[in-house]
Amino acid sequence: MLKFVDTPRQMPDKRDAATRTRDWQEIYPPFDPDRAQIQAARCSQCGVPYCQVHCPLHNHIPDWLMLAAHERMREAYELVSLTNALPEICGRICPQDRLCEGNCVIEQAGHGTVTIGTIEQHITHTAWDQGWITPITPPRERRQSVGIIGAGPGGLAAAVRLRAEGFQVHIYDRYDRPGGLMIYGIPNFKLDKKVVARRTDWLADSKVRFKLGVDVGRDITLADLRKRHDAVLLACGAYHAHELKAPGVGLPGVVPALHYLTASNRKGLGDQVADFDQLDARGRRVAVIGGGDTAMDCVRTATRQGASKVVCYYRRDRENMPGSQREVHHAMEENVTFTWLTGPKAIYGDDRAQGLLIQSYRLGPPDELGRRAPVASQAKPQKAAADLVIPALGFVPEDMQKTMPGLRTRSPDDPHSPVAVSWRTMATNLPGVFAAGDVVRGASLVVWAVADGQQAANAISQYLQGHDYWQPEAVNEEAFA
Ligand code: FAD
Ligand code: SF4
Ligand code: SF4
Repeated sequence: MLKFVDTPRQMPDKRDAATRTRDWQEIYPPFDPDRAQIQAARCSQCGVPYCQVHCPLHNHIPDWLMLAAHERMREAYELVSLTNALPEICGRICPQDRLCEGNCVIEQAGHGTVTIGTIEQHITHTAWDQGWITPITPPRERRQSVGIIGAGPGGLAAAVRLRAEGFQVHIYDRYDRPGGLMIYGIPNFKLDKKVVARRTDWLADSKVRFKLGVDVGRDITLADLRKRHDAVLLACGAYHAHELKAPGVGLPGVVPALHYLTASNRKGLGDQVADFDQLDARGRRVAVIGGGDTAMDCVRTATRQGASKVVCYYRRDRENMPGSQREVHHAMEENVTFTWLTGPKAIYGDDRAQGLLIQSYRLGPPDELGRRAPVASQAKPQKAAADLVIPALGFVPEDMQKTMPGLRTRSPDDPHSPVAVSWRTMATNLPGVFAAGDVVRGASLVVWAVADGQQAANAISQYLQGHDYWQPEAVNEEAFA
């Protein structure tokens, strides 16, 4: 260990931008085992590992790095999977620069971070390749059943833990495939769909029952599920998009981000997509509005579809972007143009979008989250041609009080408020009903959905075994502060 002194940080060789934008494959190939071992040995085995503190799952990072460096891969996998139900997925798409790797002490000391995410991925791939990951066989089957609404990372992570304890797990999802945003939101070049399908197939082999194409609130009610199951977990994400408020937003050629990404992902999965020519960026000048991860996925998808020009408009500057800086860097390499401190004042066009009137901004004082607020400048708005306009301004939960009557949300007056839970147990105000992931946090990260799902599973297990520790302390708004 401690090889950081004479071994520089190395990732797998990134595919060059010209090659990778001609296909939909991930941009990093898997780690070569020798290189992974050498890179793991760079860790300085900190007594107080800040990487672990800043990983939402508090993964045992220095321990599995040490095991990987000594080629004790099976033990490394045991440790990786102890805290993370989806390690090959988090290893790929966590914004590590903001979490584990951004807080690695050797990064702080200027040596370049240990490549934690890639090694986590490598350990898990070795486990799959070696056949160490076999279907879950609980020590004993229990009769009690849990209904999970949502087959995204929150629901899947909970299913892994509950099944391991022998509970009967049924996952309901309105989509036709399990995986949530990992299948229909995040593009293949960040997360190969085969990686997600391998996990969900493994869960099916572990006797988790998927009930797909079932929309809770429309096809069946929460009350029905509470009668059918001993406990229910809501892990149904955040799907209500913040709308762009500008004249012309209703014109054909203006397409919501998730609609655009879902169509592209479905196409990649071989599905027929109705009106795909309206959602295809090929040969078009594309304008994406926003600065988060969804916006980055849209610009990079448009590039791969063969757009003639891709421009990202964002009202703040690069330093104040909410998305991962690594993703911005990848997009820049792929020829995306960023025009910071700009946003649309209007979309113009006769019978479809032809362009934007672009307003410039300057940065004002920081808001309550510490980010500097954009202030519109007095300069005359400029015209910018675009024939596909994609607003990507973030998401909040759907109206949960309407689809799941009786459920308490954080702000009863706001129809798109997240579900209120006790953070310790993820219990809602309804007895036996728990919640996890974006539906309680608002749009967040896969790793946080996994953390919540695992925590909820733990509390559900306690609840079903009659332990009283789960009893929700009153659902506590202050806990959200
Ligand atoms: P979801 O993944 O949204 O899954 C919820 C599931 O519930 C869905 O399958 C949905 O069909 C189902 N559902 C909803 N309502 C109902 C209902 N009434 N009845 C039945 N089923 C229902 N995070 C990262 O960590 N890294 C990234 O790089 C990243 N990129 C992203 C890119 C995009 C474009 C988007 C939109 C998000 C991205 N995220 C990323 C965020 C991440 O995908 C989410 O935080 C995460 O998927 C949330 O998990 P979840 O289980 O709470 O919800
Ligand atoms: Fe880092 Fe994410 Fe893995 Fe945690 S789960 S160690 S944050 S890549
Ligand atoms: Fe190793 Fe970096 Fe974590 Fe320290 S902070 S234990 S050097 S990975």
